[in-house]
Amino acid sequence: MISRVKGTQDILPARFTAKPDAQIERWLLVERVAREAFRRYGFEEIRTPIIERTELFERGVGAETDVNKEMYTFEDRDGEMVSLRPESTAPTVRAYSEHGMFNQAGLVKLFYIGPQFRRERPQKGRYRQFWQIGVEVLGQSDEPAIEAEVIEMLYWFLMELGISDTELLINSIGDGACRPAYISALREAIRERLPNLCGSCRQRYETNPLRVLDCKVESCQVHLAELPLISDSLCDACGNHFSEFRRLLDQRGIAYKIEPRLVRGLDYYMRTAFEITGSSLGAQNTLIGGGRYDGLSEILGGQPVKGFGFASGIERLVMSVPESTINLGVNRPELFVACVGADSRDYAFGVARRLRAAGISVIVDLEGRKLKKALAVANSLDAQYSLIIGEDEIKSGSYVLRDMKTGEQTSLRESEIIDTLKYRRL
Ligand code: AMP
Repeated sequence: MISRVKGTQDILPARFTAKPDAQIERWLLVERVAREAFRRYGFEEIRTPIIERTELFERGVGAETDVNKEMYTFEDRDGEMVSLRPESTAPTVRAYSEHGMFNQAGLVKLFYIGPQFRRERPQKGRYRQFWQIGVEVLGQSDEPAIEAEVIEMLYWFLMELGISDTELLINSIGDGACRPAYISALREAIRERLPNLCGSCRQRYETNPLRVLDCKVESCQVHLAELPLISDSLCDACGNHFSEFRRLLDQRGIAYKIEPRLVRGLDYYMRTAFEITGSSLGAQNTLIGGGRYDGLSEILGGQPVKGFGFASGIERLVMSVPESTINLGVNRPELFVACVGADSRDYAFGVARRLRAAGISVIVDLEGRKLKKALAVANSLDAQYSLIIGEDEIKSGSYVLRDMKTGEQTSLRESEIIDTLKYRRL
């Protein structure tokens, strides 16, 4: 049998997989809680295409970034280069501009939930097709209050999921006024230490020196510790922005750690960068990453627009949700209908339709099994109840409701069945 592509996964009902990040019940919970948390803060959903012009990411993400190098890119039949999206900020900013959202008087607050594609080396918590939940706040304002509110919302979202063991890391990575001088100083300091640094540091020194700070290789750490920090080079505007952001986090009682070497993988970030790490995730422990990207729209050829947002991997959120928050039984059918005798099935369809109309999930045995076999199937489906309909039941208008856990059977009319199941659900 043909198997799935490396680095992808099937998300299945929990009864078919023991892998927590492949269980659909967990995904549905995370998506539902996200939509509700974001709604309360006035965010609206956007869905952009999975496929975009390669240029969007080449310009937006930066040609020399890891993300760009990992893209799935191909030439379309008309010669155009297209890519599967590796992230959704550039597509969201493109859509913002393409649909004239900049004409809005206030901030446009958007969120998305969808798959992303990066040809990375697969490992725990790292896939080639993975899903992100993200938000973008776009408009003419770069108030730090936007950043503090988004992080407050994130904490609400994590709390509702029961994910509490997290750490917020923040940094300011400067802007067009102060970063170029810092990058020159950084490059110079890296150059002096190049022989002692790993291959990837040496490559990043050429292409994206800020990312050298991000290196996790053990032997590089003593040398990286000696490099200059952006926090010592921030201009007044960036310094003030960062201290106001911190004040607003303090005011909300949100704890954070300043991580002076925190940078973001994508070129378009400026000023505030942040990450939320989770303790239960192992090596790939970044749960959420985000920051400010005021120049991105112009890089893409659009109007000047300021932006702030984050993206979070659903697989990693799903892995971090504790058992206590999950109801793996949400997909469980409430009722399995077993039909005794050939004629009763046509009749049972009508009963099933009316029960479904009352909101009950019903599976009718479509395979014409004998009662014993039908009940065995109901068991393997983990149905809460079975309803047995035969000739006698049709005549009397009362059917046998069997509690699959206790085996207890009661004869009930349709309206009583609805009441029983509804009562159970409360
Ligand atoms: P980034 O877009 O690289 O800033 O990543 C934002 C978030 O997406 C990370 O914090 C992860 O939660 C998630 N993520 C990024 N890359 C992957 C991947 N290959 N597999 C699973 N999750 C990922």
